Amino acid sequence: MNTFKKAVASAALISVTLSLAACSAGAPNTADESYDIVASFYPMYVLTLNIAGGIDGVTVSSMSDPNMGCIHDHVFSTEDLKQLEGADVFVENGLDLEVFNDEILAAYPDLDIIDASANVTDAPADEEEVNGHVWTSIDDYELQIKQVSAELQKLDPAHAEQYAANEKAYLEKIDALRSEGENVIAALNGTPVLVLDETLPSFCVYAGMDYITVETDHENEALSAGDIAEIIEEMNENGIGIIFVGADGDTALAESIASETGAVICTLNTCMTGDETENAYIDQMEENFKTLSDIIE
Ligand SMILES: [Zn+2]
Repeated sequence: MNTFKKAVASAALISVTLSLAACSAGAPNTADESYDIVASFYPMYVLTLNIAGGIDGVTVSSMSDPNMGCIHDHVFSTEDLKQLEGADVFVENGLDLEVFNDEILAAYPDLDIIDASANVTDAPADEEEVNGHVWTSIDDYELQIKQVSAELQKLDPAHAEQYAANEKAYLEKIDALRSEGENVIAALNGTPVLVLDETLPSFCVYAGMDYITVETDHENEALSAGDIAEIIEEMNENGIGIIFVGADGDTALAESIASETGAVICTLNTCMTGDETENAYIDQMEENFKTLSDIIE
């Protein structure tokens, strides 16, 4: 009789503890059991896939079409809001690339938002505006990985160990990537370059290159003959013999400048669109190192 009572009492206690745990930390919006993570766009999706992919009870998706291009050109829509329905957390690049958080929070006041760039301090600035495309710097990308993992561990403690293990494994791969590019990066240090894609100044910062850039908004907008003449003059003054363009951008401007200056056009992956695979960032950066090794002696 006594034993029976005791068993019932402890079962009741367990069920109270469980429901308390379910109510605290994260306060999921969903009635379902899974922890649903939505990333804002491609680079954040690939990053998050590495931290949270393949964990039972955790889903990772992208709010926007992965091959849409940059989120900062994106007009936020009701379709986007729908993608966030039932989500527990939104992972964003931050640094003003996603400018629609107010709209998201108005619709989903309980949604947690992770700013991946919270600890990034060396974002380049164009005309006093911060250039938030920092993931092309491996240093900054590592900070983003650590930040997303740390925040997920806090918000979803039930899967904290798995996030931490995945983070460790991904950082090891990123370290290997860094080593692969070491010689190329060392050779590029101090090299002057003209950059015609907004995602690539951060790569130049990482490589210690001296860069000049043209405000392009990812498109090589038609520049006047005067603008082009000015760029060419600046290139000559600074001894710039390399032009960086993004693989998903237009090369017409680069070609016309190259034809006047004899500069070499170097087409680099921006890790802003591509395969929806875990290794996409690493694959694209590896390819960049190969491309760059061809232009240095
Ligand atoms: Zn952009």
